[in-house]
Amino acid sequence: MVDLTKTILVGVFGLAVGSFLNVCIYRLPLDESLVWPGSYCPRCRTSLRWYDNVPLFGYAMLRGRCRTCGVRISAMYPLIEAVTAVVFVAGYLLFGAQLLLMARLLFACAMIVLFVIDLQCRILPNIITLPGVLVGFAFSLFLPPGWLDSLIGIMAGGGILLLIAEAYYRVRKEEGLGMGDVKMLAMIGAFLGWKLMLVTLVLSSFMGSIMGLTVIALKKGDMKYALPFGTFLAVGALVSSVVGDAVLNWYLGFY
Ligand SMILES: [Zn+2]
Repeated sequence: MVDLTKTILVGVFGLAVGSFLNVCIYRLPLDESLVWPGSYCPRCRTSLRWYDNVPLFGYAMLRGRCRTCGVRISAMYPLIEAVTAVVFVAGYLLFGAQLLLMARLLFACAMIVLFVIDLQCRILPNIITLPGVLVGFAFSLFLPPGWLDSLIGIMAGGGILLLIAEAYYRVRKEEGLGMGDVKMLAMIGAFLGWKLMLVTLVLSSFMGSIMGLTVIALKKGDMKYALPFGTFLAVGALVSSVVGDAVLNWYLGFY
C-alpha cells in the first residue's frame, strides 16, 4: 500500500532537487560556483528574492519574467523542476525506500543535467561524468548490478563508443561522437551494469535515428545537426533504469 503522505514528501523533495539541478545546468558550463552567489537574473544581475526560488511557484508568480528588467525566464526552469519531481515519485513507487533508490535517483539527476547541458551547450562536463563512473562503481559494490557487471559496463560502454568514434572519424574525417559521449556511456555502465548499458545504447541509437530521419524528411538540415547524442543517451538511460530489466527479460524470452 502506497503511503500518500510520503509520496507527496518525495515529490516536494524532488521539486527542491530539481531547483538545484537548474543551478547546475546554468552554472556548470560557465564554470561558476554552485553555492555562491545566490540566484540572480542573467541579464540585469538583480538578485532573486528568496520566494522567487520556490520551485514552480516562483516562476508562476513572476509570470516567467524578471521583476526588474522584464527579460523572459526560460520555461526550462519549471519544466526541470516538474520532471525531477515526477522522476523522484516514480523512482520511489518503483524501488521503495531503499538504498538502490538513492543510487538510481542520483543517477537520474545526473542524466537530467547532462540532457539539458548537452542540448543547450553541446558539452557533457567531465565534472559530472568522471566522478559519475566512480560513484556508480562504488554503489555497485553492494547494490545491483554488482561490481563485476558494473566494471564490464564501464569498460564496454566506454570502449564501444570509443571504437565507433574512432571509426566515424576515420571514415568521415570529422568528429561525430565526442569523448564526452564515451565517458557518459562508461558512467551509465557503472551505474546500470553492462546489460542495461547495452539496452541504453540500443534505445538511444534508435531514438537518434528516428530524430535524424525526421529532420531529413522535414528537410531541416543534415542528420548530424539533429541533436547531440548525449541527450539521447540520457533519455535512453533513464528509460532503461526503469524498464530495462523488463525489456531484457522479454527479449531473452524469460517470460
Ligand atoms: Zn533582470
